[in-house]
Amino acid sequence: MSASSSQLPDDTFDFADGDILPTVVRCSDFFDAQRAGRVGLANLGNTCFMNAGLQCLSHLEPLAAYFLSGSYKQDINHSSKMGRKGEFAEAFAELQLALWQTEQSHFKPKELRAKLAGFAPHLFENGDQQDVHEFLAFCLDGLHEDLNRVQVQPPPTTEQELEEDEKRAAHRDEEVAAALAWLRHLERGKSFLVDLMQGQLRSSLKCKQCGHQSKQFDPFLYLSLPVEFGMHKLTDALEKYLEEENLVGDEQWFCERCDAKVDATKKIDLWKLPPILILQLK
Ligand SMILES: [Zn+2]
Repeated sequence: MSASSSQLPDDTFDFADGDILPTVVRCSDFFDAQRAGRVGLANLGNTCFMNAGLQCLSHLEPLAAYFLSGSYKQDINHSSKMGRKGEFAEAFAELQLALWQTEQSHFKPKELRAKLAGFAPHLFENGDQQDVHEFLAFCLDGLHEDLNRVQVQPPPTTEQELEEDEKRAAHRDEEVAAALAWLRHLERGKSFLVDLMQGQLRSSLKCKQCGHQSKQFDPFLYLSLPVEFGMHKLTDALEKYLEEENLVGDEQWFCERCDAKVDATKKIDLWKLPPILILQLK
């Protein structure tokens, strides 16, 4: 393996807060674009799901560049109880060096698998093939926690605080409610992965009897889109995901104004898109 972080130009990367340039910083700008990044991962026996997931993540170029440049080191959270004191991030950085070198055409991720199996034994049980989506979600969460720039977690948001947020947002533009919800999440989790991949959804519920509406803003790191027979384009799946849904029967919604379970509609909208949108087709 020939690539190392010391070979990279010192001033190529400057990922200050809010200063992400995903379309500008590309690994291929400074590596041999013909070969680097085209390194296969050997199958260690039912590890296709792991290899597929790792290759997907490793080819998000701003993410790979963040690790290859060593920028991630300044973000490692050594105190977070949710993370692994940087061990996960270091292992992922080593993988990037292996995948973005030009000497070898493939790499055996033996040590990495052992490490990941230690972090999440349930994902490697009995050496069986596992769900790649579950694996990806685990990786995104693990990397985020290891690189969370929030050193001291504030106490959980109380009902009272949520009510105050609601009051602040009432009678104002929805932007205020969305921004307050976004802020609540950033108070707890702020990492390079959040900068790059976190978006925000708006979920609207509407009572069919009295018209009362409830809106909620939630963050996401990826979207799971339904794929059905007859779909031809990615946007077909996206449209299906964003289709209005009827909540009837067992799925009825509790309307505060009617003080009863009622037939309702549910609609999800993309409120804030991240620089990199991760879509899972299920
Ligand atoms: Zn109602």
